[in-house]
Amino acid sequence: MVHGVGGDDPHRLRILTYHGIEERPTGKWQVAREAFEAQMRFLRDAGYRTYTVAEILEKWPEPARRKERAVAITFDDGFLNNLTVACGVLARFGMKATFFIPTENIGVARRAPVSRALSSCSDSAMLCWNDLRKIRSMGHEIGSHSHSHDPVAALPRALAQQNVAHSKRLLESELKCQVVSFAYPYGHGGSFAPWTGEILRLEGFRAACTQMGGALSEGSDLLQLARIGIKGTDSLAVFRQKVSGSYDFLRWIG
Ligand SMILES: [Zn+2]
Repeated sequence: MVHGVGGDDPHRLRILTYHGIEERPTGKWQVAREAFEAQMRFLRDAGYRTYTVAEILEKWPEPARRKERAVAITFDDGFLNNLTVACGVLARFGMKATFFIPTENIGVARRAPVSRALSSCSDSAMLCWNDLRKIRSMGHEIGSHSHSHDPVAALPRALAQQNVAHSKRLLESELKCQVVSFAYPYGHGGSFAPWTGEILRLEGFRAACTQMGGALSEGSDLLQLARIGIKGTDSLAVFRQKVSGSYDFLRWIG
């Protein structure tokens, strides 16, 4: 285990990425309910403040400037277990989160994902519009994870712009709210670029999360925010190191 390399500093704001929370996890990105509960309990007991991404934006740059223990909890891909498992745990600990949804996978029923990119999750039930309305009514934020879950920077610019704009319009018209936050599918270095930040800004997004590790600082580019991936194989000790900065030096935890 590496200590100190990332300049451990628990008093910095970090954004955490989750995918599914399951009773019995089926892949490395799925975290067991029990482990998730232990992680949320740790955050609460250690005095961490939690933000949604929209709240970070609202108060920017104050949240990055404050010397406090703080995280934003985010979920990617729109799995049904986000509602049926994660939301209950979040409610118990009084925490709010941001859910990033690839809109192509939202159905009227809780069908499996249709996006090519999520085909390995074809047994998983996904959130439907009513589920998303429920999540919003609990005070959580819904953000876009593009429409098709293709890596945005790999698409021709015009198609990329249509893709993110379509996703935003769908979410806003179905949920009757403003959508200002985006998470890049994959989030590694090849999936976003300065021009992808530009099209997001043009379409009215104000923040975009990557999967490049690290803490937020006043100088952070709001359209290329760092995020730290939490895996099902992370022990509580590893989780604590991730939120306190021991893993900040890792540019992409895949
Ligand atoms: Zn994703």
